[in-house]
Amino acid sequence: MRGNLETIVGAMFAGKTSELLKRILWAKHQNKKIIVIKPSIDNRYSEKKIITHNDLSHECYSMTNWKETLQDFQFKKELVDVLFLDEIQFMHTEETILNVEKILSSGIDVVCAGLDQDSRGKPWETSSMMLGLSDKIIKIYGFCNVCGVEATKTYRKEEGGQRTRVGAANIYEPRCLKHWEPR
Ligand SMILES: [Zn+2]
Repeated sequence: MRGNLETIVGAMFAGKTSELLKRILWAKHQNKKIIVIKPSIDNRYSEKKIITHNDLSHECYSMTNWKETLQDFQFKKELVDVLFLDEIQFMHTEETILNVEKILSSGIDVVCAGLDQDSRGKPWETSSMMLGLSDKIIKIYGFCNVCGVEATKTYRKEEGGQRTRVGAANIYEPRCLKHWEPR
């Protein structure tokens, strides 16, 4: 049977990694064999751990690219029950879709998490494609830093810079539509 693909998306500080971590702990509690991967670009806190903004963490494999990852792991149903991917927006679009489809075809479940939009409000390509491929989608929301209502956007507090700029609360914050502008 084909594996199930579940995708968790939302703005920054919505709690995506916490949702992923919750599923990691459930899977471990059921003695499932798991692999946790995040792209190595995400070095905010640690290369070898996924860490939530409230300091919960789990060990992970730091991915440079899929080629190396496929050399380091065998994605076979006998060896892996669930693959967890964090920060999917930073993974290569075509390669990620291709390999996740192969992994699902081998019967392994995949749970992934990532930003759906950048601070300009544009969709992240890999996240969009994964949403299109998903069996189950969970969109979670933060709270606007200005007024406290539900926030769907990530607001960049300083202008300019690269799209993939990785940063925590010093650069980005969750905002509602009223208090957000693309930048
Ligand atoms: Zn607001």
